[in-house]
Amino acid sequence: MARGAHGFATQAIHAGQEPDPVTGAVVTPLYQTSVFSFEAVGKDRGYQYSRFGNPTRTALQVCLAALEGGERACCYASGMAAADAAARLLRPGDHLLLGVDIYGGMFALVEEVLRPLGIEATYADALNADAFAAAMRPNTRMAWIESPTNPLLRVVDIAAIARCVSAAGALLTVDNTFATPYLQSPLALGADIVMHSTTKYIGGHSDVVGGALVTRRADLGERLERIARVAGAIPGPFDCWLTLRGVKTLAARMREHQRNAQRVAEHLAAHPKVARVYYPGLPRHEGHALAARQMRGFGGMLSVELAGGGRAARAMLNGVRLFALTGSLGGVESIISYPWMMSHAPLPPAERLRRGVTEGLVRLSVGIEEAEDLIADLDGALEGA
Ligand code: PLP
Repeated sequence: MARGAHGFATQAIHAGQEPDPVTGAVVTPLYQTSVFSFEAVGKDRGYQYSRFGNPTRTALQVCLAALEGGERACCYASGMAAADAAARLLRPGDHLLLGVDIYGGMFALVEEVLRPLGIEATYADALNADAFAAAMRPNTRMAWIESPTNPLLRVVDIAAIARCVSAAGALLTVDNTFATPYLQSPLALGADIVMHSTTKYIGGHSDVVGGALVTRRADLGERLERIARVAGAIPGPFDCWLTLRGVKTLAARMREHQRNAQRVAEHLAAHPKVARVYYPGLPRHEGHALAARQMRGFGGMLSVELAGGGRAARAMLNGVRLFALTGSLGGVESIISYPWMMSHAPLPPAERLRRGVTEGLVRLSVGIEEAEDLIADLDGALEGA
């Protein structure tokens, strides 16, 4: 199927997923094999060994490249394996500039793995493009940002950051996990690489861990593919198959996620026990205008600051019945989490507070259940808050 010839929802279902040429199977088969036989010496059938490539993985990669408007996508065993592969484009002595508001696992990768390998890394506030540009160094080889950010859903001006990063001759990687390609296209805004934890919205059913990198540049695509083959952090065929099944419904799910999130956000904004709601879809959110420009919707994630602080937050977290109390996001089921004690727990309390992560902050990944049921569940939990 010609890339770009169809709309997003059509591509999600068809890109890379033509009926099987041998059997006509409409669903891409699960090639659960480690090895492929040769036709004759020196003559393979396109595949040799599943670390190098597997047709189920190829289907997923073609689909993700189409959805992100990229030339090449490369899938990895997890979001962090994808991040690690992108970081392997760097050499000792290179500088990596990261936004302050990044996923905690990225911070761990930088501090525990990359810095000991001789990569210089510093952090700067990506919400302020001038400050971010000022933090670039002559040896800055890559910048790394996320938007909307976790957990305050701050919105970074990706095009502004991309301009200053490319002017300095560096690569910009954007973690698009929260927004998904349905709502945001970082490559079109000037990013060089898009990174995903496909564990989240792309897989969409909380049943598989995976990651991906997408780029428009053939040279980068080839390098990232080599890193996957050689370093070997590839996803298994079944994980690719599950992710591919998930991605087919990404457009439909995202429409529901954000419809529900908007309703939940508006309801909680009027709730007496809620001091503040962080959701880019609310006009009073500081990033609303930028999100409206840069994104095609406001997504399914939101956070609330409870008037009663930590005690109230814990009562709400323990009081829900439908929302699952856990740390992940992006599945069809609603999830409630506590950044203070979960995602941001490794940071010292003062650092958490500096980032706006208070004891009273609760994060919601709003699922696609009936909005009324979700609101009733949250109201019930807030009674004890
Ligand atoms: N990026 C973001 C924004 C995430 O939320 C996560 C996981 O929570 C990751 C990256 C890491 O992905 P994975 O857990 O699939 O390795």
